[in-house]
Amino acid sequence: MGTIKWILIAIAIAYFIFIVVNGYKNAKRITSKRIYSDFHVHSKFCDGQDELEDIVKAAIEKNMPKLGFSSHSYLPKEKDWPMSPEGTKEYKNQVNELKEKYKNDIDILLGVEQDYWSLADDLEDYDYVIGSVHAIYEKDTVNSAVDGASEIFNYAVEHYFNGDRMAAAERYFELVSDLYDKTKCDVIGHFDLITKYNEKFMNEQGIPFVDTEDLRYIEAERKALEKLVATPVIFEINTGGMGRGFRTTPYPSERVLQFLSEHNTPVILSSDAHSKDNLCYAFDEVIELVKKYNLNLVLDPRIK
Ligand SMILES: [Zn+2]
Ligand SMILES: [Zn+2]
Repeated sequence: MGTIKWILIAIAIAYFIFIVVNGYKNAKRITSKRIYSDFHVHSKFCDGQDELEDIVKAAIEKNMPKLGFSSHSYLPKEKDWPMSPEGTKEYKNQVNELKEKYKNDIDILLGVEQDYWSLADDLEDYDYVIGSVHAIYEKDTVNSAVDGASEIFNYAVEHYFNGDRMAAAERYFELVSDLYDKTKCDVIGHFDLITKYNEKFMNEQGIPFVDTEDLRYIEAERKALEKLVATPVIFEINTGGMGRGFRTTPYPSERVLQFLSEHNTPVILSSDAHSKDNLCYAFDEVIELVKKYNLNLVLDPRIK
């Protein structure tokens, strides 16, 4: 009887130790910080706030293994946000110098966010290209901006589409579907940017700024997806709107993520940071979406 008692006590002690150790391990797993890289980053060379080198230092501080710069490509009619032709040369030089200077601390990549309407004559200079549509008309990129203020988008809907918002969405996705053919980009930037203001503006019936449940929208989105998943592109999951405080969800929508999952299309995490404080913004949240949809996550835009 005595022996059995001692065996039971030993089992109880062993079980207690097992619970404590496992609890500690789980707690460690939850609190330990993940390490991320970020390849959609803007600096003072376009519309970002910080100097390149200050961004590099912030990235090293975050233990990021890789950092990719992606300044906005030159667009002749836009003065405020893209690089100038001289700025583009200087940007390439400076990023290449920083690559060398910090090569023991971080892997720096020279990228570009190539606008649909920019000339694609220097793209071989870059390590990778993000292709993005920011405006729906070349002749008037200022007033047809999808990425500008909501009033500008409303202006475009009224002036170019007789007030037909879905026609503007169809036009937007038609351009997006052509991004790979036009730019040979590695990454599709903010695939459904046209939903930018959907959390901010809804009508009385709760229908958002651009109605993503409208059948015409769904069809335009699907056509663009089908064309792009047949090309060797990566889709970014872009937290830019979250970092700037007007969205709680990234681009693209979960419906799009579901489609990408079904087609095993690669995805990459992008902050679209315009400030060094937003590097890898909300990547812990986005990684939950990657898990939820079992997405094919790549850690470098050069590797697909
Ligand atoms: Zn963009
Ligand atoms: Zn960007």
